[in-house]
Amino acid sequence: MTAATNRTPLDVARVRKDFPILATASRGKPLVFLDTAASSQKPQAVIDALSAFYASGYANIHRGLYQLSAEATRLFEGARIRVQEFIGAADAREIVFVRNATEAINLVAYSWGRQNVGVGDEILISAMEHHANIVPWQMLCEEKGATLRVAPIDDRGQLVPGGIAELLSDRTKLLAITHVSNALGTINPVREIVELAHARGVKVLLDGAQAVPHTSVDVRSIDCDFYAFSGHKLFAPSGIGVLYGKLAHLEAMPPFMGGGEMIASVTFEKTTYAEVPRKFEAGTPDIAGVIGLGAAIDYIEEIGMGRIEVWEAELLEYATRRLEALPQVRLVGTAEHKAAVLSFVVSGVHPHDVGTILDQEGIAVRSGHHCAQPVMDRFGVPATTRASLAFYNTKEDVDALIRGIEKVLEIFG
Ligand code: PMP
Repeated sequence: MTAATNRTPLDVARVRKDFPILATASRGKPLVFLDTAASSQKPQAVIDALSAFYASGYANIHRGLYQLSAEATRLFEGARIRVQEFIGAADAREIVFVRNATEAINLVAYSWGRQNVGVGDEILISAMEHHANIVPWQMLCEEKGATLRVAPIDDRGQLVPGGIAELLSDRTKLLAITHVSNALGTINPVREIVELAHARGVKVLLDGAQAVPHTSVDVRSIDCDFYAFSGHKLFAPSGIGVLYGKLAHLEAMPPFMGGGEMIASVTFEKTTYAEVPRKFEAGTPDIAGVIGLGAAIDYIEEIGMGRIEVWEAELLEYATRRLEALPQVRLVGTAEHKAAVLSFVVSGVHPHDVGTILDQEGIAVRSGHHCAQPVMDRFGVPATTRASLAFYNTKEDVDALIRGIEKVLEIFG
């Protein structure tokens, strides 16, 4: 895809040609892929970058003196700079490659958390967190004798005004909160949240897994202390993720895992550690995954995040309107600021049945608790069906979803 300027609207038909899987069939029908929040599809540019690397550029990095290794290292470290620029980090050393958002959050919990959280301290999260931003903190609290506090959300799935402020205290060590909710689509006002927390001397980790694919992120202007995301939701390969951390924090933190690559020198008496980010990158990394992530960022930037945001907002508005026109459908998550995620329940029909019938029509949605069981509890449902959109989706995809739901209603009506 070669983009003209960022002002021309997104040419969706053309963009779709970049994603070979979107031209395939499922259950004998054209695939309608509405599960990007679980994982995104990959453009040919990413597939080609992986294939070219494995076909003619592959070697381990950092330790080989030969040309192939030097070139692989150059590609790998070049991708780190691409990530740095993409999220507006001040320094490439602030970008740590991990497996996924889950590992990024665990790294902070195990390394920073163990060093900074003690008996009687508190960690504050919100009621709309993915399990990845709940369980590591529960584990840390259990180990340290600390307490997990939860900021409430309202019936639209938004943070209750004043809820965070009320729960921040002198005991709070960290506020860990999602930038965009995977189950509800809510976009949180992260800049204000960070300001509020910093005013109380509280560090902030943002779970950006659902934010980076849909909106431009500038960690310097948000001023968060840590930012976590996964490559696989950002049109990059699975198995690669990113932890951003402010340099001073990363430098002060102990290593998370020990092994090769993360050391400066090793004797049986004493090991010294490498500088960041390598201190946190023990073992051979997902070299191809990192190169694929760099290619995915190149691809997105060529399209333009501004254009992506405009198209997704139009799609979300259209899909919301069409779903709301069905009296048997209830949307779960109707925040004022939302990403293109539509969680819903169909009255009298279990979400798994909805998902199964939609699957028969070639429509891929997710039915379940979306790794956010407390969100389901908050809304009094065991599960929802979730259609999540990306810039490669069309209004025809939404129409297919509506026809699918009408079929569900015919069968269960
Ligand atoms: N946080 C959010 C908001 C998510 O949506 C997800 C993935 N569903 C994660 C964290 C965890 O991502 P991963 O499974 O790639 O580690």
